Amino acid sequence: MVLRAVLDHGPVARSNLARLTGTSAATVTGVTATLLDLGLLREVPEAAGPPGFGRPHVPLDLDTERVAVLGVHVAVPQVAVSVLDARGRVLDCRRLPYDHPTPAEVVALAGEEIARLVEEYADRSILGVGVAAGGWVDARAGVVVDHPVLSWRDAPLREPLAELTGLPTYVENHGRALLRAEQLFGAHVARARESIVHLFVGNVVDAAFSIRGRVHQGARSASGTVAHLPVDVDPGEAEPCRCGRVGCLQAAVSERALLRAAERLGVSVPSAAVLCDLALAGDERLVELFVRRARLVGHAAASLLDLVNPEVLVVMESGIRRLPAARAALLEEVAQRSEIVGDVAGIITPTSFADPLAVAGGAVALDRLFAAPLASVGALSTAS
Ligand SMILES: [Zn+2]
Repeated sequence: MVLRAVLDHGPVARSNLARLTGTSAATVTGVTATLLDLGLLREVPEAAGPPGFGRPHVPLDLDTERVAVLGVHVAVPQVAVSVLDARGRVLDCRRLPYDHPTPAEVVALAGEEIARLVEEYADRSILGVGVAAGGWVDARAGVVVDHPVLSWRDAPLREPLAELTGLPTYVENHGRALLRAEQLFGAHVARARESIVHLFVGNVVDAAFSIRGRVHQGARSASGTVAHLPVDVDPGEAEPCRCGRVGCLQAAVSERALLRAAERLGVSVPSAAVLCDLALAGDERLVELFVRRARLVGHAAASLLDLVNPEVLVVMESGIRRLPAARAALLEEVAQRSEIVGDVAGIITPTSFADPLAVAGGAVALDRLFAAPLASVGALSTAS
C-alpha cells in the first residue's frame, strides 16, 4: 500500500502516506525505511521546502535510478527486450526479428539479450523479468497454451528463461499485461482501477478485463479470447479464418490482414506502424484501410462495451492512436452499435503508451513488484 501510494502521489511526505494508506505514522516510518534500504524509495530533499523544517518533512518518491525490471514481448515477427524503471518508463528497448521461431529459440534469443542488458545496466538491481505474449497464456504455469499465429502449443517460457537468466520470471498474456500497465501508470489510472476492458489488436487479437482492480484470468487463464467474434465483413474480400469460417474478428483485423490489403494496393511494408507512417504522410488509400479496420474493431468494441460496461475501454490498435479519421470511424461505429448511451468518446481511448510493446513485458514484472515488493525483492536475493 505504501509503495503504491508513492507511485500515485510521490513525492509525498511520510505524514501524508500515513493518511493515504490509513496506517499509523510508526508503521509508515518502518515500512519506508525498509523500502529505502531495498532501493525502491528515495528521499527528495530538493522538494522539502526551506531549510529548518526538519527531516520528517523530506518527501519520498520512487527511486527510478537504483532498480529496474526487464520486459520481453513475444510478437509474431520479433521479440522485444526492454528495460523499465520503477515508474514503468522505458529506458531501453531492443527488437530482435525472427521467422516462425520455436519457443526454445525465443528463450535463447531473449536470454542472450537479457545477459547483455544486465551487464550494461550493472548499476541497477534487476528485480525480475516479465514476459508478455499473445494468445492463450497460462500465467500460473508460465506457459503459452496456444499461440495461433506462431503455432505454439503448451510452450513453456517461465522455467527455461528463469533457468537461463537466474532472474525471477513472470509470464502473462500481453493484453492483460498492458491492462495492468494502464492501472499502474496509464493516463486514466483511477477509472482503470474501477473497471477496464483492454482490446489488443495486433497479429493476435484478444481482450482483457478487470473489475475493481482485479484482473479476470478465467480457468487456466483463458478469458478474453475474442479472435472468433463475428464481425460484418464483405464476404467477397474477407480473409478466411483458421477456424474455417469467414468474418471472424482476428482474421478480419489482424496486422497481417491489413498488410495483405495494402499489398493489393501495391504497398509492401513490414509492419502496421510503417503503414501508418505512410498514411500520415498523406496516402489517402492507406488512411481508408485504417478507417475500414477501425470500423470492424468498432463492432467488437461495441459488444465488449455492452457486455462489461467499463469505465474505460482501451483499444490498442496502431491507426486509432495516430489517425484522427480512424479514431472517428471507431467511435461512430461504437455509437451506432452499442446500447450504452453517453460519452462513448470519453470511455473509449487509445493506449496510454507511445511504445506499448516495449512496456508490456516490463509491466508484468512491475505488477508483481507493486503487489508484493518484499516478496519480489526477496525472490531476487534467493535467486542470486
Ligand atoms: Zn474463426
